[in-house]
Amino acid sequence: MSDTPESLDGARRKRPARERVPSLYRIEILRKRCTGVGTCMEIASRTFDMDDEAVAVVRDPDGNTSEQLLAAAQSCPVDAIFLYDKESGEKVWPPRDKRFSKGDEG
Ligand code: SF4
Repeated sequence: MSDTPESLDGARRKRPARERVPSLYRIEILRKRCTGVGTCMEIASRTFDMDDEAVAVVRDPDGNTSEQLLAAAQSCPVDAIFLYDKESGEKVWPPRDKRFSKGDEG
């Protein structure tokens, strides 16, 4: 069998689409802490988006890999992205809960 352009085209068409794997994390964004810097969107562009108020939102929780979600959360300069293990419910990020620090109440 020769690798003519036609046979290569056929091989490409038979290749399955990239498998979508559900992420390991439930994502929460602490809206009042988000400064709209956007590094989360640069790292996990299919998961995070910006709303009309220039605050990050979750567009597709399984849009990126779990590794990319963790990297995006770790990149947030104000720890506005919280990741929880879907199975255990335990917080994975940030390591210390600064959620209720001064100014976050309400
Ligand atoms: S990196 Fe943090 S502060 Fe920046 S847009 Fe994302 S959630 Fe908001």
